Amino acid sequence: MNDEQLLRYSRHILLNELGIEGQERLRSAHALVIGAGGLGSPAALYLASAGIGVLTLVDGDRVDLTNLQRQVLHTTDRIGMPKPASGQVALTALNPDVHIERVERRVEGAALDPLVARASIVLDCSDNFATRHAVNRACVTHRRPLVSGAAVRFDGQVATFDLRNPESPCYACLFPPGDGEDELCSVMGVFAPVTGIIGTVQAAEALKLAAGITTGLSSRLLILDALTMQWHSVRVPRDPQCPVCAGH
Ligand SMILES: [Zn+2]
Repeated sequence: MNDEQLLRYSRHILLNELGIEGQERLRSAHALVIGAGGLGSPAALYLASAGIGVLTLVDGDRVDLTNLQRQVLHTTDRIGMPKPASGQVALTALNPDVHIERVERRVEGAALDPLVARASIVLDCSDNFATRHAVNRACVTHRRPLVSGAAVRFDGQVATFDLRNPESPCYACLFPPGDGEDELCSVMGVFAPVTGIIGTVQAAEALKLAAGITTGLSSRLLILDALTMQWHSVRVPRDPQCPVCAGH
C-alpha cells in the first residue's frame, strides 16, 4: 500500500481484527454483487469505500425515478442509465482504487457460472427467487461464500452461507426451490432504510469473509422487523435431502 492508501484505510488498519494484513486481503478479494438496487447500493458503496479489490456489478435494469427513494447508488441525473454504469460512476468517485466490472444484463442459469467462479465472495442483492436459487446453485458448485439478503415492506432478512465449508447449509436448505410464491418485490412497497440496513449487513459479512474474520452469521438467518425494530435469528440446519447441496 502507498501512503495515500495507508491514510485512506487507516481506521481499518487500526482494528486488531484487520490491520494491514486484513486490508491487503480485502484488496486481493473479488466481490460479485448480483443486483445494483436497494440492497446492492449500500453493499457496493461499503465494499468500495472499504477497499475491496474488484467489484463486479450485475444488473439488467436502467435507473428509474421510482428507484431513487432507496437505491442510493444512483442519482436523478443518471435516470435512464444502465444501473451498473451508474453504479460505476458513484463507486469510482468514492474510491478510484477499486476495479469495477459491469455486467449490464440479467444473468441466470449457467451464465452465472463463470462470474461466480471468478469471484471470491458473492452477494445476492436480487429481488426474485429464480435469481436467488440460480446464484445459490452456482455458489454451491464453485464453493463460494454467499451472503443473501432480502427486503420488502418493513421486513428484512439476511443470511451467510460459507459454502467453502462442505458442512454448510445452502440457501435451498432454507428455502427449497419451487416453495412459495415469488415476492414480486418490484411491485411491492418497501421502507427505504430497510434496504440500507440489510445491504449494509451484507457488506459487513462480505468484508469479514474477505478479510478472514470469523462471521457469527454463518448458517443463521437474521430477521428484521423494522416497524417494531426488533431482530431475531434462527439457525439454518443443513438439509441432507436438499436438491442443490446434498451430495456436493
Ligand atoms: Zn442445500
